Formats: sequence, structure tokens, C-alpha cells
Amino acid sequence: MQAAVVTEFRAPLRIDEVDIPEPGPGQALVKVLYTGVCHTDLHAAHGDWPVKPTPPFIPGHEGVGEVVAVGDGVTRLAVGDTVGNAWLWNACGECEYCQTGRETLCPDQTNGGYSVDGSFGQYMLVDATYAPIIPAGVDLAAAAPILCAGVTVYKGLKESEVKPGQWVLVSGIGGLGHLAVQYARAMGMRVIAVDVSDDKSALALDHGAEVALNAATEPDVVARIHEATGGGAHGALVTAVNAHAFPQAVGGLRRGGTVALVGLPPEQFGLDIFSTVLLGLTVRGSIVGTRKDLAEAIDFFARGLVEPTYTLRPLEEINDIFDEMLAGRIDGRVVMDMRA
Ligand code: NAD
Ligand code: ZN
Ligand code: ZN
Repeated sequence: MQAAVVTEFRAPLRIDEVDIPEPGPGQALVKVLYTGVCHTDLHAAHGDWPVKPTPPFIPGHEGVGEVVAVGDGVTRLAVGDTVGNAWLWNACGECEYCQTGRETLCPDQTNGGYSVDGSFGQYMLVDATYAPIIPAGVDLAAAAPILCAGVTVYKGLKESEVKPGQWVLVSGIGGLGHLAVQYARAMGMRVIAVDVSDDKSALALDHGAEVALNAATEPDVVARIHEATGGGAHGALVTAVNAHAFPQAVGGLRRGGTVALVGLPPEQFGLDIFSTVLLGLTVRGSIVGTRKDLAEAIDFFARGLVEPTYTLRPLEEINDIFDEMLAGRIDGRVVMDMRA
């Protein structure tokens, strides 16, 4: 089969001919139809994070496809089912985190397109216990971005503790952020969006943000957030791939507010101790979502409450897609058409 392979960090991916994997016990082999391209795939290919994947590997954790074979002991999936892969490829099921509904914190988890080969190939393996099932009747290309971007922002918005009718700040209106605007609206929140271009502001407003700020041209973003929300956002979700966005989001919070950090730029940021303490702020990380969060996120999509903005591209263009992503030039998500 053809696959885009990372052979060396920061080198262009190679479109190689590789063997079709064989499903082991508890696994299924899936013919990939579509796969979203997440900024995490780019971080993976660059070796950006402290815990690195081992080249050669195949990225991709927003794959949607059809089950073509199952391994021993598989009962949850059958040939012909439509399923996806996910960042949480599987987890141990036994540790204190798995036992308490926090499987995304499992120290023994594996990750799609990172520690296990992912969906940037014509076939992929999934763990039959963890693979998300895609309901009948949905646009399968549009379903792909839900599998990471969708669930991540849906879970992050829950973690922001913003209630219906309150303001949430969404910083970064890319693949994740443009879906965050829509999930937030569907969850009854009022949205103020921040990115660094007028195109992203337009995308946020199209998807239901009430206010959109361009941090590249706006002289005092924090003051504008406070002004527009009558005293600060009740919560914030930061998906931006730039460390400058993080203190800005903290600064935009109302007293007692919570910021959920989701974006993973490799840099650090300084948290102001005095204001965090005196204003009673909460800063927390949020990593993808559990299988239950993912099923809920897919259900919002299947009911038409969120509609990913996406462009279909061929696998051969993966290196161009990464270049455009780095430059912030992608509108919503790129979904690769793997059917050829
Ligand atoms: P993307 O490239 O589609 O979007 C990133 C957006 O950030 C772009 O619109 C860009 O213009 C914007 N941005 C850049 N600088 C900014 C600034 N200073 N202020 C505001 N916005 C700014 O990326 P994506 O696929 O949406 O992923 C976003 C990040 O989230 C990545 O770091 C990715 O690895 C991470 N991620 C985390 C999780 C998780 O579970 N925590 C899951 C998926 C992705
Ligand atoms: Zn992702
Ligand atoms: Zn576990």
C-alpha cells in the first residue's frame, strides 16, 4: 500500500510503498477512505515534543474507513463497519486512571500516528475496543476532523467549566478552533475568538462567534476581551500554536475563570502568580477525550450541530499541506482523500 512515512524528523515525508499490516488479536484492519491532517501530525514529523515517536512511522489520527478484516477475538467490529482511528489508540484498561474514567491519562496508552502507525496510509490497524464507530448517513470526509479536533475541543470546553450563556474565549481558529466555536455555540456558550489574521476572524464569525479579534493588528487584545465580555471571559480554550497566545488567554479571564490549555507549541509561557492567586484563576491541561467524549462529539456532528470546514486533498500533497499549516494558511481542516 502507499503511505506517507516520516523517515527522519524535519525531513519531508516520503510517499512509500509499505506492507499492508496484519490485524493481531483484538485488532481490525481498516481500508482508509479519508484522513484529517492535525497540527499534531506536524509536531510528530518534526519531533517537537519531549516524548518523541520513533521513525520510520506513519502519522495520522483522524482516519475514517471500512473494516476489511478482523483479528482473533473481535466481536465489537465486523467486516464492512465504518470506523476511525484516534489519538487514544488504546489504553491498558486496568490502571487507576482507566478504572476511574480517565483513560486519556493512562501511562500505558498508545497513540495513533505516533507510537502506532496511523491513517496516512491506504490501510491502518485499529484496536477494536477503542476505535470510534462512525454512524450511518454522515459525510465521511467531514467526520474525519471530529475524531481528534472535534473531541479535543468538545472535551476542552467541558474542562473550561463555562456555563450556558457565559463567554468562552477561543484562541486559535484553525482545525481545532473553528470546531471549538461551533461546539461552544451548540453547548450554549457565547464565543469571542482570537487568531492572527482577518481570514481566521471571518471563519470564526461565520461559525457563530459574536466577536473575533486579530491579535496581529489589535494593539491591546486583553483589554478588548474584557471590554467585549463585560469583565472578562468566564473560561478560555487555547488551541493556538504560539506561546504568546497563552498569557493573553489567562489575562482575558474574568475573576474565578478557567483556561483549558490544548495547543502544544514547544515553547513555554510565564504564568503571573499574583493575578492567578488573587483572581482565583484555574489553569489546566486537556488532552483529547475518552471514548465516551468521542462518542458524544460524533453525536453532535451526526445531528448537524457542527459542520467542519474542510478541503479535500490527495496524500501526495502532504508536504505542501504541512507548509501551509505552518504558515497558518489553512481554512479549517485539510482532509486527505485516500480512495485513489
Ligand atoms: P492549526 O494549525 O489548524 O491551527 C492553529 C491556529 O493557531 C491557526 O489558525 C493559527 O493562525 C493560530 N495561531 C497562531 N499563532 C496565534 C496567536 N498568537 N494567537 C492566536 N492564534 C494563533 O492546528 P490544530 O490542528 O488546530 O492544532 C492546534 C494545536 O493543538 C497543535 O499544537 C496541536 O498539536 C494541538 N492539539 C492538542 C490536542 C490535545 O488533546 N490537547 C489535540 C489535538 C491537537
Ligand atoms: Zn490531533
Ligand atoms: Zn490505563
